Amino acid sequence: MSALVLDGAAGSRAAHVVVVGAGVGGLTAAAVLASRGARVTVLERAARVGGKMRQVSVAGRSVDAGPTVLTMRHVFEAVFEAAGERLEDHVTLRASAVIARHAWPDGARLDLFADLERSVDAIGRLSGPVDAKGYRAFCDYTAKIHASVEGPFMRAQRPTLTSVLRDQGVRGIASLTRIDAMRTVWRSLGDFFRDPRLRQLFGRYATYCGSSPWLAPATLNVIAHVEREGVWTVDGGMYALSKSLAELAARKGATVRCEAPVREVTVRDGRARAVVLDSGEVIEADAVVVNADTAALSDGRFGAGAAKAWRREASEGRSLSAVTYCMAVKAEGFPLVRHNVFFSSDYEREFDDLFEREALPEEPTVYACAQDRDDTGSAPADGTDRILLIVNAPARGGRKPFTPSEIDACTQRTRTHLTRLGLTLDWSPERFVTTTPDHFEAMFPSTGGALYGPPSHGWRSPMYRAPARSNVPGIFLAGGSAHPGAGVPMVARSGLLAAESVLDSLASTAR
Ligand SMILES: Cc1cc2nc3c(=O)[nH]c(=O)nc-3n(C[C@H](O)[C@H](O)[C@H](O)COP(=O)(O)OP(=O)(O)OC[C@H]3O[C@@H](n4cnc5c(N)ncnc54)[C@H](O)[C@@H]3O)c2cc1C
Repeated sequence: MSALVLDGAAGSRAAHVVVVGAGVGGLTAAAVLASRGARVTVLERAARVGGKMRQVSVAGRSVDAGPTVLTMRHVFEAVFEAAGERLEDHVTLRASAVIARHAWPDGARLDLFADLERSVDAIGRLSGPVDAKGYRAFCDYTAKIHASVEGPFMRAQRPTLTSVLRDQGVRGIASLTRIDAMRTVWRSLGDFFRDPRLRQLFGRYATYCGSSPWLAPATLNVIAHVEREGVWTVDGGMYALSKSLAELAARKGATVRCEAPVREVTVRDGRARAVVLDSGEVIEADAVVVNADTAALSDGRFGAGAAKAWRREASEGRSLSAVTYCMAVKAEGFPLVRHNVFFSSDYEREFDDLFEREALPEEPTVYACAQDRDDTGSAPADGTDRILLIVNAPARGGRKPFTPSEIDACTQRTRTHLTRLGLTLDWSPERFVTTTPDHFEAMFPSTGGALYGPPSHGWRSPMYRAPARSNVPGIFLAGGSAHPGAGVPMVARSGLLAAESVLDSLASTAR
């Protein structure tokens, strides 16, 4: 019997899988499961699919309000392939030659390129030959970390220290040293760069999973390698990618329902049996994939039975949240490319503000994605740029809400900082929409606004993310708070791992 055909009292029927949440992880799992013959229903509480990969309307324009940097194209190729289709038939991706343009308060600027030699030259011009050589060494080092974590960690269902060591055999200990897990990102960068601006630049990669470079294991330097391997833009914006995943799931037969909030995953006789919507509607299920944050499960937002699926310890803390500004504006004074970073003058203080004081930074580093620009930086024809500004913020949404005056002060500081570094924007109220950690908490309950699940602080933290197969039979986890972690490609991988786990579990049920 096929794994997806189950025998019931009324005869044989296709297994029914309910996916709670239409973020990238949920949609990926849905597409793959539907393509394997499961009956799949995706239930999403928001009005549109995509979760954090969303758009906001500003002055009549749609602005990407979530992820902007797409890496690891091969993961999305794998998702479409797993569902029997080809990514390039549905989504157009374009490789960027410029990874990002960086600017500092001292007037310095540095472009980082996909091409190693161009970056080495640029770094040499900014910081001198020793750091240019250091960058080459850093690239070798991050490539080695990548080789060590790609298979045994990122693709594995449930990596533990023991399993990584076992899978690596006698090479285990050596590979642990190679992933440089026992010191922090910040410590490690001192080995490669004398210029503090370069330490700041490469330390910032820890924030890609919402962590502090002073607390995250140096293993996270792997993100610099992943970016160097390729950054892509998506025609139609990043939102086009979640839309295409939803369409893929629908083509394979999944039903995707928006404005369908789930209030309970019903556990009977030790197994998930159904979900209950806020409306009271009950939908029977053979398996449930939860794409909401694991903190929502632990908090009991899906009922007491489902809360046992995963226990999130408060001591794990939370990853970063953000204050974001989606803008449709005239941008003047600074030669924007697609990705731009405006660094603060005291990075350590910024992370003290965020993680020690739980406050919005006194002087923020600001990321700006100019969504109509490419590597050449040419401005859009009508002179109006769609820009997403991101300022890191502590994830205290809901628990200790930010006052309007705190948010206003953050806006003022962001504006002052950008102006100081040369970028003038039109801050008329109709030109921008602000999203705060409290808004993120409202959209993604129980997160406090944290955008990347638990933080990767401490060397063991990556091993403690929730696996796809939860503690409750029939409940599976996919998303940024589950293994292998946050960020669009990682989350897509967690969707693949969840689909694989559901298929295994249904196969044993069928047997
Ligand atoms: C501002 C910002 C910038 C980012 N930048 C990048 C970047 O440049 N590159 C990158 O790779 N990543 C980036 N990320 C991270 C990336 O967006 C996320 O890791 C990823 O999109 C999360 O996907 P997910 O599958 O975990 O689901 P989520 O996007 O978290 O979606 C979960 C879904 O579940 C739904 N849900 C929750 N509860 C219920 C319920 N009770 N009933 C029904 N539905 C429910 C929610 O409404 C939501 O749609 C960024 C994120 C943000 C917010």
